[in-house]
Amino acid sequence: MAKFPYSRVLQFNFEDALASEVSKIKGSDIVALAKRIHANTIVVFARDAWGRAYFNSSTTRKHSKLKGRDFLRELVEEAKKHGIHVIAMIGHTTNPELYKKHPDWAQRRADGSVITMDTDPLEVEGPMRWPLMCLNSPFLDVVAREAEEVLEYGVDGVFLDSFRYMPDAERACFCDYCVEKYRRENGVELPKTANWESEAYRRSFLWRYMVNVNAIKKIREVAQAKRSEAILVYNSHPLGWKGRASRIVELARNYIDVVFAECSEADYQPPGFIAEMVKLSLAVSGGKPIWASRNSFHACLTSTVTTPVAIRQGLREAFVAGGYPLYLVFSTAFANEPRVNRGVAQVYRELEKLEEYMEDTEPLRYAAVLFSNRSRDWGGKDRPDHVTDSFRGFYYALTWRRLPVTYICDTDLDEAKLEGFKVIVLANAYSLSRRAVKAVADFSEKGGVIASYLTSIMDEQGNFMEEFGLSEVLGVSYEGVIEAPWSYVKVTESHEVFGDLKEGSLILWGDFDREFIDSRVPAGIANHARVSLLNEAKALARVVAPRTSFGYEYENGRSPP
Ligand SMILES: [Zn+2]
Repeated sequence: MAKFPYSRVLQFNFEDALASEVSKIKGSDIVALAKRIHANTIVVFARDAWGRAYFNSSTTRKHSKLKGRDFLRELVEEAKKHGIHVIAMIGHTTNPELYKKHPDWAQRRADGSVITMDTDPLEVEGPMRWPLMCLNSPFLDVVAREAEEVLEYGVDGVFLDSFRYMPDAERACFCDYCVEKYRRENGVELPKTANWESEAYRRSFLWRYMVNVNAIKKIREVAQAKRSEAILVYNSHPLGWKGRASRIVELARNYIDVVFAECSEADYQPPGFIAEMVKLSLAVSGGKPIWASRNSFHACLTSTVTTPVAIRQGLREAFVAGGYPLYLVFSTAFANEPRVNRGVAQVYRELEKLEEYMEDTEPLRYAAVLFSNRSRDWGGKDRPDHVTDSFRGFYYALTWRRLPVTYICDTDLDEAKLEGFKVIVLANAYSLSRRAVKAVADFSEKGGVIASYLTSIMDEQGNFMEEFGLSEVLGVSYEGVIEAPWSYVKVTESHEVFGDLKEGSLILWGDFDREFIDSRVPAGIANHARVSLLNEAKALARVVAPRTSFGYEYENGRSPP
């Protein structure tokens, strides 16, 4: 396999409404930075989230501060001289400029209100800034033309950045294009109310995923018709958007050449987060190249630079997990903060030497945690984080025990791609297909299976069953849910899974709600599946109910009873 050529990435964006720095920054300046930091690929906005072009487009208005300049041409021509690749960002689904001309192309709720990407504080009502355009409207043809236009400039590929059409009730589109298309394709009306118990609603939820998949497929076809070797990069932002885009990647894996795992949350997630997002993206994409970002700034402080150690650690994490680092610099910091290339140059120089040793390598197969997008959707419903936290909790527990751990996804479990793993972890994996159940049963003949809570209680379509799909494999029969605000598990027999916890030890189950607004504890956190044992199965512990619903130490009952 040829070496992946887009392995050290610099992303540069003009981020403000005026693009105040645009008159000071030439394309050659960005290429000079890429050279200084040993990047071999530059990612840049060809059309930004305001809807303005940074090149001479035949359809999109160019940013007026550029005057006679063609920023994309400056960049591509200079980059070519130095053997640096350029990938153009297009297709951002917010496009206020286009919205003004075609308000009927916007994503709209059932009540007709426009769906936006605005993120004002809860109590602050601001003017609408970021209307989202609908992928079922002629907007998608505009994106296709953007792809064709930038490829004529000789860029190596196109990058769908915030390409968002979400299935969740608060963002689901009911514009005329969507309503009409759903009726045409399915012969029924698009369900208006979010009812997770309804098969019709869940089918419409899946349909919305497929709108994304088909749009990605179309843009890639258009791009490759223009230039056969052009690549398509998709920003999945794996922890954003309730994690739904990871399912889009899983469904669209044949139409995505590079997954961009945006890791903007890295500064308030656990250490190892960037590596985790790479492994997750490798799992859902079936092993596509993964770009993972380390921003030049801390959290959201875009005009500053963070510490060199945070930058070095983040970029190295992307690499050691089997991905490729992407370093994001905004124009304000680029123009005003000379320390912006601190840290990154050292790591990219190292990787320039090391990356050939990572070619064609595979993660060590030991423990596989199922990151079940299906279970997150069907089991998590409106609080999918409660389910993904189960997967992630096991991932971090194993990581911090220094055990080799990676994720697998539903698609690959269905196909029994479990070769080499010693143990698979099904952490609250509600929804398993029949094929997945069979794969786990076969695997259990030779490997370990850890399953928690309501694993396999739903079928593939999210229907709640009366019995676990894995009942025989696990040796238990489903008898309902024990609901409690807090609970304990009491060890009744010593066993190596308990480590040094001996018979009689109590393990606390539960936690207080960090939001502490309408509940003392997060919903369902201390619940257990009530089971009866089958055949030779043996219980090693029992659930103990608390005497009261909360304890009295600490104000307002944050402690356990
Ligand atoms: Zn729509």
